[in-house]
Amino acid sequence: MSPDLLTLPTVAPFAASSPFSPAEFDEYVMSTYGRFSLTLERGAGCRVWDDQGREYLDFVAGIATCTLGHAHPAMVAAVTQQIQTLHHVSNLYYVPQQGALAKWLVEHSCADRAFFCNSGAEANEGAIKLARKYAHTVLNIENPIILTAHASFHGRTLATITATGQPKYQQNFSPLVPGFQYVPYNDIAALEATIAQLDQGDRQVAAILLEGLQGEGGVRPGDLDYFKRIRQICDETGILLIMDEVQVGMGRTGHLWGYENLGIEPDIFTSAKGLGGGIPIGALLCKSFCDVFKPGDHASTFGGNPFVCAVALSVCETIEQENLLKNAQYRGGQLRLGLQKLAKKFPTLIQEVRGWGLINGLELKADASLTSIDVVKAVMNEGVLLVPAGPTVVRFVPPLIVTAEEVYLALRSLDRSLTSLTEA
Ligand code: PLP
Repeated sequence: MSPDLLTLPTVAPFAASSPFSPAEFDEYVMSTYGRFSLTLERGAGCRVWDDQGREYLDFVAGIATCTLGHAHPAMVAAVTQQIQTLHHVSNLYYVPQQGALAKWLVEHSCADRAFFCNSGAEANEGAIKLARKYAHTVLNIENPIILTAHASFHGRTLATITATGQPKYQQNFSPLVPGFQYVPYNDIAALEATIAQLDQGDRQVAAILLEGLQGEGGVRPGDLDYFKRIRQICDETGILLIMDEVQVGMGRTGHLWGYENLGIEPDIFTSAKGLGGGIPIGALLCKSFCDVFKPGDHASTFGGNPFVCAVALSVCETIEQENLLKNAQYRGGQLRLGLQKLAKKFPTLIQEVRGWGLINGLELKADASLTSIDVVKAVMNEGVLLVPAGPTVVRFVPPLIVTAEEVYLALRSLDRSLTSLTEA
């Protein structure tokens, strides 16, 4: 074959203007998502451009996923290098990139071992299976129960919608998976009462699965005392503590892991979203004492392939090299301060500002006759992308590389939007 035929063609960017109108798109794609009328074509750093060439500040980051923003040189280099070398084999063989990513995660967390999958829901499924196997084989529990919280979110598979303590995600999908029970978040008395009550019957608590800060449930941080007492209960009883780090992990809160904000360590935790910076990857991590999986117990075709692991490792290393935990702390502080000033300026609209690092929520007053979607749409008109976390909370989850100027500009646009909404 002539060398010319081996030369890769130069790939043109995907259509300068999108060939799909929303109506055409909806003809072919199942309507599982309520979409904003916006088509994004290109991104660089914290900025994205739509198909009309209009620029937006991206404070959504693929919903807390694009850790390094868009087209970061470290990710571009890792993607290019790995796709040109070897992108997928199988877990039939040893995968050095998987080993390197697992090593980085273990050395930077309380875990001893990792398993890789493709999404947050799958990581939580893995955690549920691991906890059940531990309950059957170590704790000798015949009917293990996993406690989860009201207003939690753990994914969209059958087991994870059941784990999710929000009936709206479960409606019309029964029969749900047995073995889950819900408790109010941040309420230690209710948790202790539920454990005691289950202990007297033929079902026993095997694990407690919680988010350190409830993301989808309205950006609600966990209480330190609540989590400290849960850790104590788990130590005394052998119940496993599983933390869902899918949204709050990978530096989003200004610490690498959300649990660090609470002064405790889980036995098992899950990661996804920010771990791959936008490349699909999930991870289940655990301490060695509860690593009861044996060959054949759990698997995933794509899980931990050379491509995703090389890219995820580039994200991890860039977080360290660019000091992004500190950036998340400082820029998060700047953002919260600005939001608190806006809360004072618009007292009839804003109920509360809360969050950690670069995951923050602005809760609207129940009687403000405005929803989070109204605010998100108004701010989009000002050139800033935000995302609701429920009907009354507007969420701010920019890339961890966000600059002081970008935070300032986003706050100024929000101020303008709230002014026009109050005047309307
Ligand atoms: N867990 C939490 C805390 C999440 O926020 C999400 C997604 O929003 C998930 C799990 C599910 O992740 P995925 O959409 O990757 O399955």
